[in-house]
Amino acid sequence: MKVIYLGNPILRKKAKKIEKFDEKLKKFAEELAKVMYRDDGVGLAAPQVSESIRMFVFDAGEGLNTVINPEILKRNEKKVKMEEGCLSIPGIYADVFRPEEVEVKYFDITGKECHKVLTGYAARVFQHEFDHLEGILFIDYLSTAKKAVLRSKLNKIKKGEIL
Ligand code: ZN
Repeated sequence: MKVIYLGNPILRKKAKKIEKFDEKLKKFAEELAKVMYRDDGVGLAAPQVSESIRMFVFDAGEGLNTVINPEILKRNEKKVKMEEGCLSIPGIYADVFRPEEVEVKYFDITGKECHKVLTGYAARVFQHEFDHLEGILFIDYLSTAKKAVLRSKLNKIKKGEIL
C-alpha cells in the first residue's frame, strides 16, 4: 500500500460510498492505519492510497478511529487557524482556517453508527480527512499569494520530484 501524491487524479475524485462491511474492508482499514502510523501521519484517507472509497483513519492523540461514510452534520461558526500538512503533499505546511467544532456521524469498522461532537485537534483532523473524500486538499484553502509562494514546490510534487 503506497501513498499517492498531489497531481494524481484519484485525489481529486469524489469517493464512493461503502456498502459492504466485510473482512476485506476490515483488512483494508488495518493496512490503512499501519501506513498512517508508519508515515507519521495523524490521519489517512482511502483515496490517498488509490482506493476511492469513503473511509479514513485518524488518531488525534486519543487512539485510532476508523471512519466510514462520514457526514458533517453541523459546523460551528467560529473558525480557528491551525497549521496543516498532508502525507500526499510532502514538505508543505500552511495555516488553514476551519470551524473549531463539528458534529459528525459515521460508521465504525463493525458497521456501528457513531455520533460525535469533535473540537480542537480531532475536529481539525476529521475535517481534513473528510475533504479527501470530496476531492478537496488543504492547499485549496490557501490565498493566491500563499499559493504563489508555494507554486514551485507544489509543481515539483506534481511532477514526482520529491523526497
Ligand atoms: Zn491529507
